[in-house]
Amino acid sequence: MATATATYTEKTDEQQAITEMVRQFVDNEILPVAEEFDHEDKFPEAIVEQMKELGLFGVTIPEEYGGMGLDLTTYAMIVEELSRGWISISGVVNTHFIGSYLLMKFGSDEQRQEFLPRMATGELRAAFSLSEPEVGSDVQGIKATAKRAGDGAWELSGQKMWVTNGLLSGIVFVLMKTDPKADPPYRGMTCFITEKEPGASENSGEFAGLSIPPKIKKMGYKGVESTELVYDGYRCPPDRILGGEETGLGQGFRQMMDALEVGRVNVAARGVGIAQRALELALRYSQERKAFGKPIAQHQAIQFKLADMATKVEAARLLTMKAARLKDAGERSDLEAGMAKLFASETGKEVVEEAFRIHGGYGYSKEYEVERLYRDAPLLLIGEGTSEIQRMVIGKKLLERNRV
Ligand SMILES: Cc1cc2nc3c(=O)[nH]c(=O)nc-3n(C[C@H](O)[C@H](O)[C@H](O)COP(=O)(O)OP(=O)(O)OC[C@H]3O[C@@H](n4cnc5c(N)ncnc54)[C@H](O)[C@@H]3O)c2cc1C
Repeated sequence: MATATATYTEKTDEQQAITEMVRQFVDNEILPVAEEFDHEDKFPEAIVEQMKELGLFGVTIPEEYGGMGLDLTTYAMIVEELSRGWISISGVVNTHFIGSYLLMKFGSDEQRQEFLPRMATGELRAAFSLSEPEVGSDVQGIKATAKRAGDGAWELSGQKMWVTNGLLSGIVFVLMKTDPKADPPYRGMTCFITEKEPGASENSGEFAGLSIPPKIKKMGYKGVESTELVYDGYRCPPDRILGGEETGLGQGFRQMMDALEVGRVNVAARGVGIAQRALELALRYSQERKAFGKPIAQHQAIQFKLADMATKVEAARLLTMKAARLKDAGERSDLEAGMAKLFASETGKEVVEEAFRIHGGYGYSKEYEVERLYRDAPLLLIGEGTSEIQRMVIGKKLLERNRV
C-alpha cells in the first residue's frame, strides 16, 4: 500500500527514486525486525551498517565532502520513510544530520574538512547536546560551563541530559556557558565540538574528562541510546569552538537555535512517517477484522476514523514539505517549521491512538506493531521543543510578521 490517497506527487525523479529505494529498504530490512529490536532494546547495528552503505548519513552533506548534496526537502522525504519503519532508526541519523548542518553553516573550512568526509560515510556519528537535568525548554538556563585554562584551552564541566547517540557517537556538538555573567545569558554561550571514543563509558587520553552513565530506560524509542554526558574538566583546544574562536565564541545559542529550525522539520517528517504507518495498519486491520457480521471497516464509525486519520496525515505532510521547501529556497521558515512540527507530531500521536483503538484488544498486545507505535509516538511531542514551546514560537513569529 503506497499512500492513502491517489499518487499525485510533487517529487522530482531523483526524489522519487531515492524515497522508493528507502521505502524498499524499510519494508525489507527494518519492518520485519523492528519489534524484536524494540522488545530487547537492542541497537540495530546491522541496519545502521546498511544505512552507511546506502549513503544515508550524508544525504545533505555536499558532494565535495563525499555526501549526496541533497536538500532539506529530500532529506525530510527520506526521514518520513525511515520513521514509517521505526522512529529509532531515524533517531540514529537525526542528531547526526543536525551536527552536519551546524558544520556546513557555521563551521570553519578546517572543521568542515576535518569532520564532514567521515560524517558523510557514517564512520563518524554525531550527537547534539543542549538539554541538562534541570533544563530543557529554557535553553538559556543551562549551567554547564567552559572556562579558559592558562594555556588557552577551554575546560568543559557540567552535566548534559537526554543525548541521543550519546554513547555510540564519536563527536558531540555541545552548548556551554563561556561567560556566566552575560546579560542576556544567550550572549555568553558557545558551541564546542567535542570528540570522544564511540562506545566508551569512560574516555581517556586526549578525551579524558568525559564519561557516559548507563543509558536512560525509556517507554519507547528503544534501540537508539539516550544518555547523560558528564563533562569534568574535559579539555578542548580553541579551534574546537564551532566556527573557530574568533567567530564562534558567544555565538552558540544563535547557532543551536538555527539548527533547531531544521531539526523541527526533521521531527515533523518523523511525525508524518509514524502516522502514515499507523494509517496503513488501521486500513489493513479494519478490512480483516469482522464484528457484527461484517468487516469493521464497513461500520461508519470506523470509516470516519480512517477518513480523519488520512486527512491529518496528508495535511501534516503538506505542512512539512512547505517548511522544508521554504528553507531550501532561502526564505524565512521559522513560523512554518514550528507549525509543521506542532501539527505533525500531534498528528503522529492522534493517528497512532486511533489505529490503536481500531485494533481493539489486540492493539494492547505486544504481538501487534501498533503497540510499539503507541509507545514511540509521544517522543515527538517533546524532542526539538514541546508543543507548548512550538505554540510560543508560532505566536511570537505571527506577531512579528503582522505588527500593527
Ligand atoms: C528520548 C529523548 C531524546 C532526546 N534527545 C535529545 C538530544 O539528543 N539532545 C538534547 O539536547 N536534548 C534531547 N532531548 C531533550 C528534549 O529536547 C527536552 O526533553 C525538551 O526540550 C523538553 O525539555 P524538558 O524535558 O526539560 O521539559 P521542561 O522544559 O521542564 O518542560 C516541562 C513542561 O513544561 C512546559 N513548559 C516549559 N516552559 C513553558 C512555558 N514557557 N510556557 C508553557 N509551558 C512551558 C513544557 O512544554 C512541558 O510540558 C531528548 C528528550 C527525549 C525524551
